[in-house]
Amino acid sequence: NNKLLMIPGPIEFEPEVLRAMSLKTSSHVAPDFIEIFGNSLELMRTIWKSPTGQPFIVTGTGTLAMDMAAANLIEQDDKVLVISTGYFGKRFNDIMDRYGAKTTILEAPVGEIVSLKTIENELQNKQYKALTITHVDTSTGVRVDPKPIAKLAQKYNCLSILDGVCSVAGEEIRQDEWGLDMVLTGSQKAIGVPPGLALLMASEKAMQTWKNRKTPVGSYYADWSNWFTIMKAYEERRPSYFGTPPVNLIVALETSLKIILKEGMDMRVERHCKLAEAFRTGLAKMGLKFLPDSAANSANTLTAAYYPDGIDGSALLSKLSHKDVVVAGGLLSELKTSYFRVGHMGSVSPNDLIAVLGALERTLLELGHDIEAGKSIAAFQHELLRSN
Ligand code: PMP
Repeated sequence: NNKLLMIPGPIEFEPEVLRAMSLKTSSHVAPDFIEIFGNSLELMRTIWKSPTGQPFIVTGTGTLAMDMAAANLIEQDDKVLVISTGYFGKRFNDIMDRYGAKTTILEAPVGEIVSLKTIENELQNKQYKALTITHVDTSTGVRVDPKPIAKLAQKYNCLSILDGVCSVAGEEIRQDEWGLDMVLTGSQKAIGVPPGLALLMASEKAMQTWKNRKTPVGSYYADWSNWFTIMKAYEERRPSYFGTPPVNLIVALETSLKIILKEGMDMRVERHCKLAEAFRTGLAKMGLKFLPDSAANSANTLTAAYYPDGIDGSALLSKLSHKDVVVAGGLLSELKTSYFRVGHMGSVSPNDLIAVLGALERTLLELGHDIEAGKSIAAFQHELLRSN
């Protein structure tokens, strides 16, 4: 299987990261591994731009990271405002519900964002304990600007929780400067490590909120009482144990975090931005229309585009896969068969995106769509040359 994996996670991983995965598994209390774990926690602070944050690395997926945020910060009947731009906003609402929160969900129409005015009106209406933001909703490709929302949250003394599963290490995030209380992700997207790690960064205020709880955390596995001491021990380079860490994944994580920081976060965000814009310039030349209602609301980490009129989506996906390019179908139940998604994050290169455009052009021509071969690639090239 040598197909180019261009779904919005898991992504194509650096060979060096995959090699790190395959090294001999060591003890989780071996000095070398303790150093790797401790270093990974420190590198996370640089990537999240959160020198004062408390990082957590836990076995699980992005959903566990969301679950942990809810389990530790929320108590029965706390009010939570969920700002939703798609499927993953609704998931946060369900998770908050499960921990007894009284949630209010502000749902944007597909492709749009919730206005700051609407959010502020709601914050004035009730004293919310926390609000959640999906930075990039992977179901729609919509990106929200977390900065002004975090500011509003501070103004109304409410915690801000950012689902950064499809954004951390791909989109701009300045956790401390923006005042975000929780920024969480999974390993398999722009962090560039195979699936299996939940990564979280809690602000001092979030940690204080957890410490001041009146009731116990309603999940044994997710409880920070178990994990906080473990993270502290690894940072202090001491052996410790709660649940056996996924040794190979963490060795791979340290490798990937170093690769990310070698590029530098600012450069990395800029690269994602230029590639995303050039890619969409190319797609537009094929007559494709996008789910997000504007360029400003479009993610740099993936693109969600409608199939052209008269084109059968499942035929398109299967033909693309036969050309060794794998992209993802739709995720929103109401629109599932009318759009597809292409991930472009992590170590993605212009060559990868040219391969996608080329395979897509041939596929659309085979399906009878009236386009000119090579035009989208030319547009991509020109846009990239212009922006670089
Ligand atoms: N939030 C967002 C924005 C996501 O894209 C995803 C995964 N696609 C999740 C949460 C859930 O992550 P996981 O599938 O790793 O549980």
